[in-house]
Order: sequence, then structure tokens, then C-alpha cells
Amino acid sequence: MSSGITVSSLTVRFGGVTALSEVSLKVSPGEIVGVIGPNGSGKSTLFNAVSGIVQPSSGAILIDGADVVGVAPDRLVRQGLARTFQTPRIDPALPVKTAVLCGFHTMMRQSILEAMLHLPRQTREETQMKASCDALLERLGLTAVREVPLGELPMGQVRLVDVARAMASKPRYLLLDEPAAGLSLPEQRRLAAAIRLLAADGVGVLLVEHNFGLVGELCRHVTVLERGKVLVEGDIATVRGDPEFLRSYLGS
Ligand code: ADP
Ligand code: MG
Repeated sequence: MSSGITVSSLTVRFGGVTALSEVSLKVSPGEIVGVIGPNGSGKSTLFNAVSGIVQPSSGAILIDGADVVGVAPDRLVRQGLARTFQTPRIDPALPVKTAVLCGFHTMMRQSILEAMLHLPRQTREETQMKASCDALLERLGLTAVREVPLGELPMGQVRLVDVARAMASKPRYLLLDEPAAGLSLPEQRRLAAAIRLLAADGVGVLLVEHNFGLVGELCRHVTVLERGKVLVEGDIATVRGDPEFLRSYLGS
């Protein structure tokens, strides 16, 4: 059995629109793989297919050798697949720290309800979880806003909180959908460091970006999508010098 996420000849159609066409890629544990491409090239659709939110028209998706097409999204989450959303789906009334704690609860035996009722047998686990949450907030530069409701934060920071939530669930694989969009340079630096740390810990990361930015910095292997198809893929230096890529990326 080969470990990693393996996407083979994946095609996704929405009515008459082919959002993805015969796309293949692989993410191994501990590897950060980049996917870039202009708006509408199918990046989010790729994530939606891998995370079980949309059903592919054809092709295969294997996680650690197991076929996951048709497996429900919440089951994939419990199996260690975490993802963020380009537009995070988090309640705007939730304070930052609570949103991140939700991620921890994904992987714990204790339910969020039990935690709120402060059941005694769970208190040690809860203390550890709070400490890990604080460390994660610190690492991503979110400590100062830990009490702030998400609805009061700029979208870039909301995405960062979503990244923290996903990281908190202790995933084996993490899919990040344009996590650097709207972030300042120092925020991007911290995000990059946190992603590196996770990969060093063995987590396989699939990083989607509109621009080369973070991908160029973090990934050795990159796939460029254009109108749902793989335009070019390979190691970062090869892709950067590829005439097809330059034509597409520079918009000439
Ligand atoms: P990207 O993330 O690269 O900007 P998307 O994956 O969001 O691109 O979109 C790829 C194409 O698929 C676009 O043409 C988009 O309009 C279409 N698409 C995505 N999701 C849906 C959906 N749920 N229903 C219909 N069309 C969709
Ligand atoms: Mg997208």
C-alpha cells in the first residue's frame, strides 16, 4: 500500500462545465505540493473532490491506498484529512480561540459539549488542549486577537484562523486553499513557518495559491492548472522556466 494522496485522471463536471479534466497528482507524507493557476482553473474543485464535497465524474482518489471517492467529508476528516476554505465557513460570532479549539475537538474523544460542561474526567486533556491552542495561536501571530469574534477580523486573518483550526485537528494530510490571500508579508512569513513545521512532522500538505508566492517558497513540486487541465508540472525550477507556464502566468 502506498502512503499519500494520489489523484489519478480526475475529471469533475458541473452540468456543461468541465471544472477539472484528467488531473493527476500525488502528495506524500511530509511533502508540501503546490497547485497554482488563475481564477476558475479548478483549484478549489480539486480540493472539493479530494475532501468529498463534490463527486468526480471519473478518475480515482486514493488516500494511503484506500479509494475515497464517495466517502463522506466528515468521515475523511476523522481519518485525518483536514482542509481550509477559500471563504472560511466559521460562525462570525465565534471568538478566534473558540474557533481554533473546535479543531482540537475534531480529533479528541471529548465532544465540545462535554468540554463546555467541564466534565471532571476530561479536565487534564482539556488543559493540554488549551496549551496547544495557545501555542498554535502564538505561532500564527493570532495571540493579540484571540478574544476577537471572527466577524470583526479582515478576511486574511479569518483564513489564518481557519488554518489554525485545521492544524489543530492534528491531520495527516492538510489541504490549504489560498491561505496567503490578503495576508501581510510578516503574516505570510509566520504562515510559511507553521506549514514547514507541520510538514517536518510528517503531514502531507497540498497548497493551492493563485500566485507563485508561498508555493515558490515552500514547495519542491508544483502543478499548474489552466482551465481545469494540468498545464505544466514538475519541480519548481523547471516549472518557473517553462515557456507554457511563463505565457500563462505572465498573461502574455
Ligand atoms: P479556482 O479555485 O481555480 O478559482 P474553481 O475550482 O472554483 O476554480 O472553479 C473552476 C470552474 O468550475 C469554474 O468555471 C467555476 O465556475 C466552476 N465551478 C466550481 N464549483 C462549481 C459548482 N459547485 N457548480 C457549478 N460550477 C462550479
Ligand atoms: Mg478557488
